Amino acid sequence: MPVTPHLVLVDDDDAIRQLNLCAIESLDLGSVGSVASVAELMTYLELSWFRGQPVDLILMDIVMPEVDGIEGCRQVLAQQAFADIPIVMLTSIRDDAKLEEAFNAGAIDYISKPFSIVELRARLRSVLRLKQEMDRRREHEQELLELTQSLIQRQAQSERATYLDSLTGSYNRRAFDKKLHDEWLNCYSLRKPLGIIMMDIDYFKRYNDAYGHQVGDQCLQAVAACLPGAESGLFSARYGGEEFAVILPGADLDEVKLIAEQIRIRVEELRLSHVESDVGPWVTVSLGAASGYPGEISDSSQILRQADQALYRAKAQGRNQVD
Ligand code: GH3
Ligand code: MG
Ligand code: MG
Repeated sequence: MPVTPHLVLVDDDDAIRQLNLCAIESLDLGSVGSVASVAELMTYLELSWFRGQPVDLILMDIVMPEVDGIEGCRQVLAQQAFADIPIVMLTSIRDDAKLEEAFNAGAIDYISKPFSIVELRARLRSVLRLKQEMDRRREHEQELLELTQSLIQRQAQSERATYLDSLTGSYNRRAFDKKLHDEWLNCYSLRKPLGIIMMDIDYFKRYNDAYGHQVGDQCLQAVAACLPGAESGLFSARYGGEEFAVILPGADLDEVKLIAEQIRIRVEELRLSHVESDVGPWVTVSLGAASGYPGEISDSSQILRQADQALYRAKAQGRNQVD
């Protein structure tokens, strides 16, 4: 709200409007504008709003041709930008039915014409004070809202940092452990199997030695991108170093092996040169698959161990394969 309040007077009668305008201006409450109709008022409100001098109070005659003050009230308050502007009705006749209509339309107060300057000052001051208080509260609410939003944003950022691997953008080990625990319980209650894939890049130490650590990092990123994401209902993570793991809720061993084979092919098809590999000319991975019913296996580390043992066998059997 500007330091000096901005009032606007709406009256179709030129002579009365001029007279009232002088009277209101003499009160020295702020800047005062005047218009002759509701249509003019709407334009005036918009222009003032755009100029950054929004109207703080409207004084509106009830009886006007075309659109009367009551309909004017409705039109103003229906606009979101103007819905908080207090409207004081000006009436020349004391007509309770009309007044009730005006209050129902959203008017905040009324003043009978001709008005005493003392009454006018007291009423307008109290309405302006109310408006000021409302504006302050809204500003305060807005500040609180912005503060809450920035806190939520910061929390989301720190959560990302907690659960994501910075190099590959995949979930990290911490996220994996948490997800494994959740899915274990979930599969237990649904009596479904839980599948796990452990995956390890073949001869990655040699890859680093041959191409350098930076190219090694790029290789890790490319391999991570071959893993299935949330869109497939699966959960992939960088388990550590050049090892990755996938959680497959509800998948039996055959299904786990099928997905593992798809990942193996995808990595091979990257066609990333690996001159030092004993497997072939490209970067390849070995994968270990396991699946079990949480009700039958004592805890999730057991299934993880099975996947790890399968991975070890895949390595021993010649790498670039699923066991
Ligand atoms: P194997 O086929 O038996 O898995 O052999 P390997 O060489 O892949 O396995 P080993 O465990 O001996 O080596 C893993 C290598 O992965 C060693 C380590 O430097 C590399 N590594 C682990 N984390 C990163 C990383 O973040 N970036 C890069 N560039 N290399 C990494
Ligand atoms: Mg390896
Ligand atoms: Mg390894």
